Amino acid sequence: MKAEIIAVGTELLLGQVVNTNATFLSEELAGLGIDVYYHSVVGDNPERLASLLALADQRSELIVLCGGLGPTEDDLTKQVTAAHVGQELIRDELGYQKLLSFFEKRQRPMTENNLLQTLIFKDGISLQNSTGLAVGIFYTSDKGNHYLLLPGPPNELKPMFYNEVVPLLKEKFQKKDQLISRVLRFYGIGESQLVTDLADLIQGQTNPTIAPYAKPNEVTLRLTVKTTDEAQGLAQLDDLEKIIQERVGEFFYGYGEENSLANVVVELLKKNQQTLTAAESLTAGAFQAALGDISGVSEVFPGGFVTYSAETKANFLGIEKEFLEQVGTVSQECVEQMAINARKLAQTDYAVAFSGVAGPNELEGQPAGTVWIALANEQGVHSQNYHFTRDRSYIRHSAVMTGLDLIRRALLNR
Ligand code: ATP
Ligand code: MG
Repeated sequence: MKAEIIAVGTELLLGQVVNTNATFLSEELAGLGIDVYYHSVVGDNPERLASLLALADQRSELIVLCGGLGPTEDDLTKQVTAAHVGQELIRDELGYQKLLSFFEKRQRPMTENNLLQTLIFKDGISLQNSTGLAVGIFYTSDKGNHYLLLPGPPNELKPMFYNEVVPLLKEKFQKKDQLISRVLRFYGIGESQLVTDLADLIQGQTNPTIAPYAKPNEVTLRLTVKTTDEAQGLAQLDDLEKIIQERVGEFFYGYGEENSLANVVVELLKKNQQTLTAAESLTAGAFQAALGDISGVSEVFPGGFVTYSAETKANFLGIEKEFLEQVGTVSQECVEQMAINARKLAQTDYAVAFSGVAGPNELEGQPAGTVWIALANEQGVHSQNYHFTRDRSYIRHSAVMTGLDLIRRALLNR
């Protein structure tokens, strides 16, 4: 089946919002074995949307629209698409009841325009919105083309896609061939090295395929197999992964597009029933913020310290001022003391400490990118000196990722 994605919204054309919905939808549709041939963006303009729909009708069997389902005047996707396919708009009863109770609970009067959000096509299927009020629509025209209308906000579009659209598309169109993907995540190896180590596999690939992707401070590999038999496809992925793990498994840290080093660290701490704190100088809380992104982190992370200046290193962590003056803040002695004291103060199993030069200027005679990272636990403390490169933000990110990987390896006894 040939599909295309039309994102509606002037804010996308102005560059104020990145069209992440198209990326998400393309990836998900590919996973369902549906080929996406075109992406378009059109502003909140009825004539231009109508002409785009006319074009889409000639070249695609599935037309996915996102954005413009809301209550405001510029939200016109439903109205324009309904006119295009000659459908009457009627009220979706479930969506309508949800809308009423939403306003009742908030004790706010409901303005008339809100009703627009609950309209669906007379012969369409309504798609419920678990995180918002705009109801989505699936509709098959007399000509046999399929239309999917989804809300713009990604936090509404994604759950609607997973909960409502995937089961529908599977039921209606799942071809015998399906694509199964597996994402492997690596830290501590660059993309060029990874690709070199796997060169023969990548060059010879047909099915499964291997797609490397470089992200800041990490690399992912997406293995994809096309198969008619799920069990056989999974076995093919297992075989390929085994070869990859034999070569570069040392750098592998986890599976999945949505995974992260911080996530793996939090999961390992939970499994071990251990806790972690941090004392951060140049990263200024970025390490702790990365932990905070993971739900359920409070079980393993009671809190920590941001000690940017020598004064706060002394006052918050109780490190002697004379000692700091003697050794300097960007030093092995300082960072180890930070980790030891932070661990004691927060009463955790582990503490990670960071001190270094984020740049662009040098500090204490040391160049930008010089970073000390220490890890303290019951047995003691050890630290290492790193020389990160690029700009200030990259140096700080590198420090955070390295800290996460240090604790991950410690938790795995590696
Ligand atoms: P609402 O009820 O919030 O008005 P809507 O379905 O009408 O939802 P839009 O008004 O088009 O959607 O967009 C609402 C917001 O959703 C945008 O301001 C933007 O932040 C986000 N958004 C819209 N389209 C996209 C897109 N293609 N990719 C990523 N984000 C998007
Ligand atoms: Mg809107």
